[in-house]
Amino acid sequence: MNINSFMPVKVVSDENCVIKNSKIFKAFGSRCLVVTGGSSAEKSGALADCLQALEKENITYSVFSCVEPNPSTKTCYNAGVCAREINADFIIGIGGGSPLDAAKAVAIFAVNPEFQHDSVYVRAVPSAHLPLVLIGTTAGTGSEVTGVSVLTNSDTGLKKSISGADCYAEVAFCDYRYTCSVPKAVTVSTALDAFAHAVEAYLASSANEFTFVYSEKAIEMLKDFILNVNTFDGTLNGKERKQLYIASLFAGLAINISGTDFPHTLGYYLTENHNIPHGIACAAFMPLLLERAKKYCPERLGAIENILDCNSGKLAEIIKQAANINIKLSEEEAHQISLRWKNGVKNFDRSPGGFTLGDCVDALKNL
Ligand code: NAP
Ligand code: ZN
Repeated sequence: MNINSFMPVKVVSDENCVIKNSKIFKAFGSRCLVVTGGSSAEKSGALADCLQALEKENITYSVFSCVEPNPSTKTCYNAGVCAREINADFIIGIGGGSPLDAAKAVAIFAVNPEFQHDSVYVRAVPSAHLPLVLIGTTAGTGSEVTGVSVLTNSDTGLKKSISGADCYAEVAFCDYRYTCSVPKAVTVSTALDAFAHAVEAYLASSANEFTFVYSEKAIEMLKDFILNVNTFDGTLNGKERKQLYIASLFAGLAINISGTDFPHTLGYYLTENHNIPHGIACAAFMPLLLERAKKYCPERLGAIENILDCNSGKLAEIIKQAANINIKLSEEEAHQISLRWKNGVKNFDRSPGGFTLGDCVDALKNL
C-alpha cells in the first residue's frame, strides 16, 4: 500500500470565489504585493476581482506586473525587494504557471534579505516565507496545488525548479472563468501540459494509489480535447473550460506526489533555446515516452489506452502533429546538450525502464 502524499493548500473554488471569500485575504494582514504577468491578470478579470476583494477588506496593495513567461530568478528577486519595500504581509500571485511560480519565489525572497537571486536554489528547506495566495488563469500547470516553482536561472539561462514545503500556497482560488480569455495557442499548450502531467505521473515508477486516481481522472477529463486537438478552432464554452481547468488541477495533484518523467526535463531545452511553450516542449517527447511504456510498463499504458479508447500509436501521431516540432540536431549537438544531466536526474530514474544519457542523446537527435 502506498498513498504517501502531502498537499497543504486550502483550495477555494466556484465562480466568483475571490470576491465571495474576501475575508480570507484579511487573515494574512493589511498590506500585500500582487505579482502578475504583463497582461493576463487584467485580461482574465482576475486582477479586477482581486483588487475589489482587497479594497473591500481595507488591504493596501502594490502590483508588480512584470513577470515574464518562464520567470527568471532576477525578476523574482526584484519583486521580493519590492515586497520588502512596501512592508508586505503577504503575496498574491495571479496568472498562469509563470506568475504563480514566480510568486512562490517572491514570498521567499521577501523575508530573506541576505539572498542573492540564485540563493533560492541552495536555501535551507523550508525557508522563511510570506504567506502566499494564488489565483490561476490557465488550465495547465496545476501550480496552484504543487509545492514546486519552475524558475529560469538568470545567470545560466537554464530552467531549474525549486520545491519543498515553502513552495506551497496557503490558499489557491480556483475560478475557471479566468481561463476563458486564454488564446488558442496557449489553450493547446497548457492542455498538453496538463495531459503530459497526468500521463507522466501515471507511468512513473514513483506513482502511487493516489496518483493513479488523480491521473485517471485528469486523462478522462482531457480526453475529448486531446483527441481532437488538431482540429481545435480556439473556441470552448464555459463547461469545457471548467473541465480543462479541473483536469489540470487533478494532474497537478498527481505530479505533486510522483513528479514527472524525462519529457519534462528534455522539454526545458526546447523552451530555453527555441522559445517553445512549456506544454508543447513536453509533448514533443511524449511519443517516445509512450513507446518506452509499451516496452516497460504495458499494463499501465493499456489502462491509459482504455480510458482514451485510443491506441498509443494513434495517440502518438496526434501529439506529434500538435507539437509540430521541426528541429534537427546532430549527434554531437545532442551529446553536448545532454551533458548538463550527466550527474543524474530524478525524472530519468523514474521514467519507464529508466532513461540514460545515451537515451537522452537519441531522443534529442530523433526529435
Ligand atoms: P504562462 O507562461 O503563465 O502564460 C503563457 C501566456 O499566456 C502568457 O503570455 C500569459 O500572459 C498568457 N495568459 C495566461 N493566462 C491568460 C488568460 N487568462 N488570458 C489571456 N492570456 C493569458 O503559461 P503556463 O503554461 O500556465 O505556465 C508555464 C510555466 O509553468 C513554465 O515556466 C513551466 O515550467 C511552469 N510549470 C510549473 C509547474 C509547477 O508545478 N509549478 C508545472 C508545470 C509547469 P502574461 O505574460 O500576461 O501572464
Ligand atoms: Zn509541465
